[in-house]
Amino acid sequence: MLRLTEIKLPLNHDENGITAAILGKLQIKAEQLHSFTVFKRGFDARKKTDIQLIYTLDLEVENEAALLASFAKDPHVKLSPDTRYQFVAQAPANLTERPIVIGLGPCGLFAGLLLAQMGFKPIILERGKEVRERTKDTFGFWRGKELNPESNVQYGEGGAGTFSDGKLYSQVKDPKHYGRKVMSEFVAAGAPDEIMYVSKPHIGTFKLVSMVEKMRATILALGGEIRFSSRVDKLHIADGQLTGLTLASGEQLHSKHVVLAVGHSARDTFQMLYDQGVYVEAKPFSIGFRIEHEQSMIDECRFGPNAGNPILGAADYKLVHHGSNNRTVYSFCMCPGGTVVAAASEPGGVVTNGMSQYSRHERNANSAIVVGIDPERDYPGHPLAGIELQRQLEQLAFKVGGENYQAPAQLIGDFLAGKPSKELGEVKPSYTPNITLTDLAQVLPDFAIAAIREAIPAFDRQIKGFAKADGLLTGVETRTSSPICIKRGSDYQSINIKGLYPAGEGAGYAGGILSAGIDGIKVAEALALAMLDANNTS
Ligand code: FAD
Repeated sequence: MLRLTEIKLPLNHDENGITAAILGKLQIKAEQLHSFTVFKRGFDARKKTDIQLIYTLDLEVENEAALLASFAKDPHVKLSPDTRYQFVAQAPANLTERPIVIGLGPCGLFAGLLLAQMGFKPIILERGKEVRERTKDTFGFWRGKELNPESNVQYGEGGAGTFSDGKLYSQVKDPKHYGRKVMSEFVAAGAPDEIMYVSKPHIGTFKLVSMVEKMRATILALGGEIRFSSRVDKLHIADGQLTGLTLASGEQLHSKHVVLAVGHSARDTFQMLYDQGVYVEAKPFSIGFRIEHEQSMIDECRFGPNAGNPILGAADYKLVHHGSNNRTVYSFCMCPGGTVVAAASEPGGVVTNGMSQYSRHERNANSAIVVGIDPERDYPGHPLAGIELQRQLEQLAFKVGGENYQAPAQLIGDFLAGKPSKELGEVKPSYTPNITLTDLAQVLPDFAIAAIREAIPAFDRQIKGFAKADGLLTGVETRTSSPICIKRGSDYQSINIKGLYPAGEGAGYAGGILSAGIDGIKVAEALALAMLDANNTS
């Protein structure tokens, strides 16, 4: 199969446009082109009045080898790589041990699925509830009910990204095409086909919920076992080798092969790992606020007269500013047409994040505007000091918000002017249960406030209206990534505890749904091969 890249066509090209472009590019006749599929579709919106779609196409053609030779010097005509997933192992019938996966977020889900597909019949332990029950608890909290510390936006089947925008793109290098495996499993579980080819795919909250249920059913059908409300509270370690674990219920399970995919919010679990001597170190993360504008303003700014075109969808943005105080401010987890959500998992804390539905039809755009912080400068001295800093900021936000899970918020104009907000303007807050208008300068360190105050006007030069006075900031955003790294070696095992496979976002090896899923696959492969080895030598 041939692959053509960088095929550019106008946004509103007709249905024969692609065929015509292929024939033109390769200088062949229609009958020589047997078929084609769109491998990727992105767009270039730098010229708003002339937005171009950019295709990567896979084609079956007559005389493929001759065509390839005649375009040997053209980097945009190549053989299509084989992106199909190949399993690295198959469990033998005499396998005596079952691997365990801790955590059923995207990382644990893919680690568990792959192990199940390779015949290893994993046991998956998840502290939270199954996704429908968890949805009730999470949406209940957003409607003003009590926070359930074991069932919320961070904990439960599907992990942290279940109630999210479901963005499925990542910057990670992926030479083995694991991302395609993640996407194809998502499509098999009910995600729209387009996630396989649009350049910035997203799924949205409600689709994710049913997909997670279908993937659970697949794992069970393959002989895997999934236990909810099963928090791991202790590891059994003998001479640097993991031998099993204890659940909060007191039940003990034995395995020398355990994936640890607990996400970035399992603070009690991080403490337990540290107390038990698992090597962890502090790592950088970011702190800031959620910013909200009307989505129509972002669409207009990015797409001009083409705003509202269904192929483009709701516009997003990505912004970076290097501040004069040597701090970098950037937008993160932008949710077009979405809502700001309460993302706390500990009582007495307020944390923001963002989500949307597949349609991205809500009135506001939101994203985190965050400042990078690091252990050397900002939380030195202890591997878990970043967790303590997060906790302090979340508790301060809770206090300033009124101690009822309302989030402190401020109009952008007032924030820039350094005065507390008294009333809302055009932009209505989407955060529930509610916001408390205040002065946000009191909830983050001075350097972060100074850097964000400098960044917002700079961002306004890229997106006109970004510094609009009645845009809204809501805080605090503290869970951008894990504050620790659970170090692993090239064998994917903890550098000091054999048999423990730290994985995903919590361990510092992923940031986002797709990269967490990819990491789950990598770790499952390493674990499966190690289990086969152990089985052969025993
Ligand atoms: P997690 O998803 O955090 O899963 C870890 C699981 O482990 C949890 O279910 C937890 O309950 C369980 N667990 C923890 N401790 C224990 C224990 N001791 N015993 C048993 N189980 C345990 N990313 C994107 O790519 N796109 C987005 O649009 C996006 N939006 C987001 C929106 C929100 C509101 C949030 C909170 C996150 C969003 N993210 C998004 C980030 C994304 O969700 C994470 O990067 C991803 O979920 C990390 O996957 P993970 O499997 O490593 O960890």
